[in-house]
This record gives sequence, structure tokens and C-alpha cells, in this order.
Amino acid sequence: MKILILGGTTEARALANRLVALGHDVTTSLAGRTQDPLLPQGNLRMGGFGGVQGLAAYLLGAQIEQLVDATHPFAGQMSRNAVAAAEAANISLLRLVRPAWEPALGDAWIYTQGTAEAAAALPADACVLLTTGHAGLEHFLERGDCRFLVRIIEAPAAALPAHARLLQIRPPFHLLDELALMEREAITHLVTKNSGGTQTASKLEAARRLGVKVIMIARPVYEPANEVASVDEALVALGLTG
Ligand code: NAP
Repeated sequence: MKILILGGTTEARALANRLVALGHDVTTSLAGRTQDPLLPQGNLRMGGFGGVQGLAAYLLGAQIEQLVDATHPFAGQMSRNAVAAAEAANISLLRLVRPAWEPALGDAWIYTQGTAEAAAALPADACVLLTTGHAGLEHFLERGDCRFLVRIIEAPAAALPAHARLLQIRPPFHLLDELALMEREAITHLVTKNSGGTQTASKLEAARRLGVKVIMIARPVYEPANEVASVDEALVALGLTG
């Protein structure tokens, strides 16, 4: 089967590798934002399609039989475009999205709807481990009354102000390291998107153990689609378990 995977996640990569191993013709599409990304097996294309029309035209032109949206849960624009383009091109869409993190007993996460709201939720003098990426960074940096450790894969284009420091590193992160980091940096608040998955979940356990407050940015909501939560479920839903 000829399959286009909208990628940029661990799950997208794993699915592409599994489908290639099963002998399918798989192309993974990446936005092209990350330098030196981890690459899946199969074909690769980089960069945007040019909105819904561009993606629909690509699907038809490349004779794609199945579209899989395996983008990050916070890549809302791409996921909305996937729904509209699949409909326009009359091509089946499957969405692979990892489950959201859920609070454990005793957790008192503060939920917010975006980065501006999350930045506003910080009290003065908070010492923050900020793990929300590039989008909306400016809202936090405007808070000159807080201190930030900005943990990010790619350094921001602009230099950080004096009340923020850069920690440029790629996941996965392990519990003992997260505990040591939060203790060493005297972190009082963790700000995170509800990305889900295992690669970065240990920060939540570390925060729980150390009494660090968690500000959790809720996922964007987009149109319903045929949705699965794991690579195995995706293979079943596609009828391609081998
Ligand atoms: P977004 O805001 O939903 O998408 C903005 C535009 O970027 C889309 O309209 C599309 O351009 C292009 N694009 C996004 N994903 C693409 C893909 N897989 N292939 C080709 N074009 C793509 O996306 P984003 O939040 O910037 O995320 C960009 C990529 O990074 C995604 O692939 C996502 O899986 C990955 N990622 C995102 C996050 C996050 O927190 N947002 C975290 C980890 C990884 P056109 O309209 O021109 O087609």
C-alpha cells in the first residue's frame, strides 16, 4: 500500500519502520524545523505542503492510498489540514496520537489553555523549568519577576534575557537526572505541554516527589478522525498486521 505519514514524532518513525518492514511504500513527511532529525526508513519529504489544497494535491499526485497523521499532539494546524485534505482528496485518514498524561493521586496540576495563560499562572519569584519549546516562549520571557531554565532541543534564534538560561538537550530524560536537575536548580514550577508519551514523562514523577508545582498546557482540540493511540493499534486499524 502507498502510505503518507505526517511525522515528526517517535511514533511516526516507529510506524514507518514497521510498515517498510512489511513491504509497504511509505513516505514520511517532516516539517523541516529540526536540524539533524532522527530519520525513519522509507521515503522522506521535507517542508510544508502549502495548506489544505497543497496537501490534497500531493495526495492525489503521488497516488497516496492511505494518509496517517502521526504528528505531535500540539501540531494542531497540520492535524486540521490533514482532516480537510483527506476529505478533499477522498483518501482515508488515520490519526495516531499518543495518550495525554493524566495526574496521579495527589497531583494538583494547574491546567491552562496555552502559553500566555501558563505564563500568567506563574507566581512572582517562581524558579521555572520551562519545557514548552519555541512557540510562545516570549510570554514566559516577559515575566522578568521569575527565573527560567529553558530546556529545548534547538536553541532559540534570539539570545535569552538575563533571567533565563538555556539547557539545550534532546530527550529521553530519566528520573534520577530529572530529580538531580530540579534539586540543583531549586525549581519551584515545571511548565509543560501535555505531550504524553514516555520520553519526557519522568519530569512529572520528579516534580511529584519534590513537591514542584506543575503547570500543564492542555492539548489543542481538532476535528474528530479515526484515531488510535499506539503503533500496534495503527497497524490493526490499517489492516496491515502482516
Ligand atoms: P503546526 O503548527 O501544526 O503546522 C504548521 C505548518 O507546518 C503546517 O500547516 C504545515 O505547513 C507544516 N507542517 C507541520 N507538520 C508537517 C509535517 N509533518 N510535514 C510537512 N509539513 C508540516 O506544526 P508545528 O507545531 O509547528 O510542528 C511541526 C512539526 O514538528 C510537526 O511535524 C510535529 O509532528 C513536530 N513536532 C511538534 C511539536 C510541538 O510541540 N508542536 C513537538 C515535537 C515535534 P503547510 O500548511 O505548508 O503544509
